[in-house]
Amino acid sequence: MATPSLVSAAMRRLEGKVALITGGASGIGEATARLFSKSGAKVVIADIQDDLGHSVCKELDAASSYIHCDVTNEQHVENAVNTAVSKYGKLDIMFNNAGITGVNKTNILENQKHEFEQVLSVNVVGPFLGTKHAARVMIPARSGSIINTASICGITGGVASHAYTSSKHAVVGFTKSTAVEFGPIGIRVNCISPYIVASTPLARDFFKFDENGGIDVYNNLKGSNLEPIDVAEAALYLGSDASKFVTGHNLVVDGGFTVLNAGFCIYDQSA
Ligand code: NAD
Repeated sequence: MATPSLVSAAMRRLEGKVALITGGASGIGEATARLFSKSGAKVVIADIQDDLGHSVCKELDAASSYIHCDVTNEQHVENAVNTAVSKYGKLDIMFNNAGITGVNKTNILENQKHEFEQVLSVNVVGPFLGTKHAARVMIPARSGSIINTASICGITGGVASHAYTSSKHAVVGFTKSTAVEFGPIGIRVNCISPYIVASTPLARDFFKFDENGGIDVYNNLKGSNLEPIDVAEAALYLGSDASKFVTGHNLVVDGGFTVLNAGFCIYDQSA
């Protein structure tokens, strides 16, 4: 049986680390802020929902701060990284998680250019700016873990809009590209691709789910539904030293959705 000190060390896998989480006021980002904090990290939440961000911070276990940051604004992102460093001395984990779905239009003829650009701006330019400014402080330290939130929409088409699907494919490519640049410096870059997390405001609004996420989402893996904490656990692994040799990886958290072709499957899916 493990001794109590080994158990608590395992539970505090981010002890001494500093993490910046964009989109940390809600959903997956909020669950990650809570889990990172419980695991010993000092957390800076960067978001545009100020009241929500402040209230999440108040409930965190370790030292934490909230900073208003629109991830499409380079000065805001630069300031968020500088705040993490000036308050807590360094930046170990950058979680580029803020994202939007944009309008749910499936007919390209109805799609407006500015709507497409807005989604790319938050979902792709946001991680670009977050990575650039995190690298500014991680490169001299020659260490760090950068995590981007992609999606199953970065692997497959037809689940969301053209803009969202394009943006998440770009996040996967950007993750690989930056992992190659930063590998020789000792900085890791990975992304997480969740399936539908029905309980977050983003999914509820996009798919018109009810308040409690009480919907029938197709799920090939029976017996559980994807919750924000499941994605947070993936981020904890990628942020911690447990993943010290993992970089350029897309950690897919989808219950097998993207490996199944439901239209041509020889196995009984209704079991
Ligand atoms: P959410 O709406 O609960 O959280 C998103 C957060 O991002 C919000 O707090 C919002 O204020 C913030 N945000 C939006 N625009 C911003 C901006 N310009 N600058 C700073 N912050 C901004 O949604 P979520 O489901 O937790 O989404 C988090 C990430 O997970 C997104 O990147 C999303 O694309 C991705 N994702 C979600 C699902 C899902 O089904 N919920 C599935 C796969 C991937």
